Amino acid sequence: MYLILLGAPGAGKGTQAHILTSRIQIAHVSSGDLFRENIKKGTPIGIEAKGYIDRGELVPDETVIEMIMNHLNTPACRNGALLDGFPRTIFQADSLNNALHERFNKGIGRIIYVKVDTDALLQRLSGRWICPVCQTPYHELNNPPKIKGICDHDAAALYQRDDDKRSTAERRLQVYFNQTMPLIEYYKKQGLLLEINGQQSVENVTNDIIEALNVLSMDKEKKDIILGETEESLVA
Ligand SMILES: [Zn+2]
Repeated sequence: MYLILLGAPGAGKGTQAHILTSRIQIAHVSSGDLFRENIKKGTPIGIEAKGYIDRGELVPDETVIEMIMNHLNTPACRNGALLDGFPRTIFQADSLNNALHERFNKGIGRIIYVKVDTDALLQRLSGRWICPVCQTPYHELNNPPKIKGICDHDAAALYQRDDDKRSTAERRLQVYFNQTMPLIEYYKKQGLLLEINGQQSVENVTNDIIEALNVLSMDKEKKDIILGETEESLVA
């Protein structure tokens, strides 16, 4: 089974990838990690990718897909893989699907989208403050200092890194959603999207994902009973 994991920055995608791959015994295939590994090992594809990166160019889709295909062909991925970080566009999704069919005679099984609304994402991504003296981190919501803007330990004025500022977080999310929403709609239309509520405990998010995957892999009759759906309600 080949799965794709989607989620905005701050949605907890990395945590879920880590837990899921051990719970359902499939490989975690992060395109970013694969690049770093191939470049470090000096593989032909790593050398090719490094050339583009050194010239400040984007690595072409075909190169990324070839790298992923090579990896999916290794024993580590014999039970399947959870793809993380790729595809990001509809064009990449199509190319990936074609490559999977060509090489393995099957396509992407499901897309898991860990959904968290923008306000909650902004709260998670921003609101971190640090003490310049003792380096203690605080968070406006989860872990606020006793007095706003002041360190509990040494009364120093807290500061915010650029990455932790609300405006930075807003920009990051805007870039992500502009790029990813068309992909999410595309998979939804294909009936492959599992939308998972990411605004609950890490454990519950994982359980919801596993439950959704199990229900979908059951035969139709069992699925209908569990989901309480009849042929008519599915058509409607
Ligand atoms: Zn301090």
